[in-house]
Amino acid sequence: MRYISTNGKAGFATFREATLNGQAPDGGLYFPEKIPALSRKFLDSLKNKSKAEIAFEVIRPFVGGTIPEEKLFEICAETVDFDFPLVKITDNIYALELFHGATLAFKDVGAKFMSRCLQYFSVQKGEKTIVIVATSGDTGGAVASGFLGAENVEVVILYPSGKVSKVQELQLTTLGQNITALEVRGTFDDCQTLAKKALADNEIKEKVFLTSANSINIARWLPQQFYYFYALRQWNEKDAPVVSVPSGNFGNICAGLLAQASGLPFKKFIAACNANDIVPRFLQTGEMVSKTSVATISNAMDVGNPSNFVRILKLFNDDADKLRKKLEAISVSDKLTADTMREVYKKYGYILDPHGAVGFYALEKYLEQNPNKKGFFLATAHPVKFDSVKEILGTIGEMPVTVEELLSRPKQSVEMNVDYNDLKDILLGKI
Ligand SMILES: *Cc1c(COP(=O)(O)O)cnc(C)c1O
Repeated sequence: MRYISTNGKAGFATFREATLNGQAPDGGLYFPEKIPALSRKFLDSLKNKSKAEIAFEVIRPFVGGTIPEEKLFEICAETVDFDFPLVKITDNIYALELFHGATLAFKDVGAKFMSRCLQYFSVQKGEKTIVIVATSGDTGGAVASGFLGAENVEVVILYPSGKVSKVQELQLTTLGQNITALEVRGTFDDCQTLAKKALADNEIKEKVFLTSANSINIARWLPQQFYYFYALRQWNEKDAPVVSVPSGNFGNICAGLLAQASGLPFKKFIAACNANDIVPRFLQTGEMVSKTSVATISNAMDVGNPSNFVRILKLFNDDADKLRKKLEAISVSDKLTADTMREVYKKYGYILDPHGAVGFYALEKYLEQNPNKKGFFLATAHPVKFDSVKEILGTIGEMPVTVEELLSRPKQSVEMNVDYNDLKDILLGKI
């Protein structure tokens, strides 16, 4: 398998090159040259295979021999070593819970897989790697936990001071070892700008291999296909499901559409967005207009320029009409999100986090129009991660043991102003 750039102006790259580079040299996103077609036999046998076996079979063609099979199987097994239960909530709506991993959000899958691949390539090169990542909340913890203890890899995380939840902050500041958390006196955008500047800094690049761990990296994007297979493995209804995906940067839903293109039977995908409605507008008008993001209670989806959407277009050969047949999109306000959380808790006793609630609402609306269908939404994070859940529901339900433990650990962060020179000194100090 080789990768091309969505901008079409870069040469082919292997899985290894694309993982190490992150972004294609022409500024585009890497995209598989060909979509693998899964055999009928494999699809029919999902129920008899282990999670690790499924992950391995799905990802193997994409890795294209750049990691030995035995090693790749080990990476897969480590990546999916927790549960992905499909939980029935109403007659026609299920939740695919993706929050039983180390940092209680779906990003654990992509981050762990990527960390293991990068570690493998870094050891192979015999060169130290510094991973830099800016986070608005969930990414930082997942990346930190995924890379904790990785040989030859240092991780530097920038997060906006006071703008992530308590649990999220502890997840990225209490690990120590090869993880450094930089608490930036600024916004997420400031963190992102600082990280980008470092990634483009030739003086640093001459001294050390610096790369990013953001969601456009194929080693984070591709393994997100796994849980769509795990959903189908648990799906016992007669007809294929409708899938609702809370979306921000559109990496997760794009992985689902990719799995569908390789043969997974899904009826329809719904991109469930908050007030950041760039994609719902695009599907309505055919025009892609990015905007500055607006803050919502489902803040992991506050994205004004969804970077993975070009990959979705590519999957459909840039044909918006073809795309509309498979994908619907809806924008859900904060008020509707909070109302949904209250209603679902009252009626079914199920605690939704704000992101899952956007997904639930979008699916419920769709099924109202299509009454004989059934579906599931992705519960992308555990409610305990978001301070708003307590305010809206008056409870966060049962606290996972890992969180109780986390609350007792001391936070370790390096505070800094939005000043690139300070960041540069810190990075050079790690070499
Ligand atoms: C990152 C995130 C999303 C958005 O996923 P994308 O792949 O960026 O669309 C949704 N929910 C939660 C909880 C997240 O952390």
